[in-house]
Amino acid sequence: MARIVQKFGGTSVGDLERIRNVAQKVKSCVEAGNQVAVVVSAMAGTTNQLVEWAKQIGPMHDAREYDTIVSTGEQVTVGLLSIALQNIGVDARSWLGWQIPFKTDDVHSAARIEEINPDDIIGRLNRGQVAVVAGFQGIAPDGRISTLGRGGSDTSAVALAAAINADRCDIYTDVDGVYTTDPRVMPKARKLDSITFEEMLEMASAGAKVLQTRSVAMAMRHGVNLQVLSSFTEASGTLVQNEEKQMEKQKVSGIAYSAEEAKVTVVGLPDKPGIAAKIFGALAEIYINVDMIVQSASVDSEKTDITFSVAREELSNAVKNIRNLKDDLAFERLVYDDNIAKISVIGTAMRTQTGVAKRMFEVLSDKQINMQVISTSEIKISVLIQADYTELAVRSLHDAFGLDTIG
Ligand code: ASP
Ligand code: MG
Repeated sequence: MARIVQKFGGTSVGDLERIRNVAQKVKSCVEAGNQVAVVVSAMAGTTNQLVEWAKQIGPMHDAREYDTIVSTGEQVTVGLLSIALQNIGVDARSWLGWQIPFKTDDVHSAARIEEINPDDIIGRLNRGQVAVVAGFQGIAPDGRISTLGRGGSDTSAVALAAAINADRCDIYTDVDGVYTTDPRVMPKARKLDSITFEEMLEMASAGAKVLQTRSVAMAMRHGVNLQVLSSFTEASGTLVQNEEKQMEKQKVSGIAYSAEEAKVTVVGLPDKPGIAAKIFGALAEIYINVDMIVQSASVDSEKTDITFSVAREELSNAVKNIRNLKDDLAFERLVYDDNIAKISVIGTAMRTQTGVAKRMFEVLSDKQINMQVISTSEIKISVLIQADYTELAVRSLHDAFGLDTIG
């Protein structure tokens, strides 16, 4: 007997028929002798609609009310799935975030989970009841509903798995695993049987949308065994696991991209302490996530430029907040471009094998693709390029690193 968390995303619970299908999957897992907690998202498209309404109702934005609105999609699906389960003879009940509770911090609309009290749920799992838990939501210290940011139900599932000490956390989605790159861009992309936590983390933060980045970081910290698989097939998925367990070793494990980036350069900043802190402080204040940052070395120790990237949808707010600093910082100009893509080559084998950067740069140069910013980590090389070249870059790199063949 094992204790398993099954998480079903929006497309998996997209209509009543699909919810009945999910109920069957849960039932099989129970009948195999397991204790099961299920975490669900809202029906596909629902959260987008709720977010739209919250934005359109009026210009004043109260994040607490936003959370009240956008958390409702999951309330519907936990109720529906619980009834579907009861109708096929499975003992089940729904749980909203505040009922468990999932205690979060007070950052409404982007809250972090601080503590989960799983005692009630564990008691009921031990008695054979299935817990159907609303993803994406919790309760803030002010006693009001909070949400975890878009895609947050993956994080709910992993957090619950850690809290109830689950043997496995299975993330059911509309793709049947993690691929070497996005199969819609590269038909030759191959499904990986396994990937390390670190690679998955880099893939997720580099734009692969299979799992929310935070959920991977949390799984890594708590040692939660993750599996990504499809709710529409019986095929085995991809295991996300520790590096020691990895058999398959290629130089590069995957190519990730995000075609929705923007780049900002603050030109002619005084080269002295405190300047960068002010710029990024002004962005942190409005919760803008900055990705790459490059400061050019100043030749004369007087002036320098700082370039950074943000998600395209954050560009206008970022620019606005930095413009407000113009008098204080005395920079010369602000230049920005919203037609930017980030391409990343990822693999833990990069730690020990050389030549990946060289090969990557050669491939892009062969295709006449200009790299505007380069950044690296131990297991990843990322570049910013003009967004129009995204597909060409992804396909060429996938071929060059031989990702369509098992290594
Ligand atoms: N329903 C939420 C969203 O669409 C949470 C999730 O599905 O993970 O962002
Ligand atoms: Mg999702």
